[in-house]
Amino acid sequence: MARKLEGRVVIATHNPGKLREMRELLSPHGIEAVSAGELGLPEPDETGTTFQANAIIKAEAAARAAKLPALSDDSGLAVEALHGEPGIHSARWAGPDKDFARAMRMVEEKLAAKAAKAPAQRRATFLSVLVIAWPDGHLEKFEGRVDGTLVWPPRGSAGFGYDPMFLPDGHARTFGEMTAEEKHGLPPRGEGLSHRARAFMQLAKACLG
Ligand code: IMP
Repeated sequence: MARKLEGRVVIATHNPGKLREMRELLSPHGIEAVSAGELGLPEPDETGTTFQANAIIKAEAAARAAKLPALSDDSGLAVEALHGEPGIHSARWAGPDKDFARAMRMVEEKLAAKAAKAPAQRRATFLSVLVIAWPDGHLEKFEGRVDGTLVWPPRGSAGFGYDPMFLPDGHARTFGEMTAEEKHGLPPRGEGLSHRARAFMQLAKACLG
């Protein structure tokens, strides 16, 4: 049996795009969410070599510092033709200025160097690992993924990060062209679309309500 999440939770991120999405996902569940940024918590170094290891580092650091349960997301874009890169380095490719136009250009340049023009050569997956850490050391972990194709030039200005390049399978618009509701794709209208929403649906089933 998973442990239930009640009352207040720290969202262990300093990424405003993720924070907004995690708040949107939590808000129907009556959970009060404060962010690591709002509490002035430091950003731990992500020294892990997997999404899960980095999600655990962030959630444990925030839970310890805030003495509250903490929810973290470690996520990224894995491009098949680039052997899974940028993967856990997705944020790093944007550089210190968090310039995602530049990060998307880097992906495109590397695909162009491989002459990857056809959609079948431009397959990619968004992955999200969500971890809840409690101050006593208990952990719960969930994983979600969504497969799609990378388009060029980027389309749309909604969402964050690599969203404008990512066309999820079965859809005609990129994440950058979708409203937040469409990108989440939550029931009853959808079955969960984004990697984060899919991981969150499992979390909600196990730990909320
Ligand atoms: P993290 O903070 O190391 O997990 O960084 C994850 C990075 O992956 C983000 O900064 C984004 O660049 C990218 N990423 C993760 N989720 C999404 C998403 O839903 N849309 C677009 N980019 C994402």
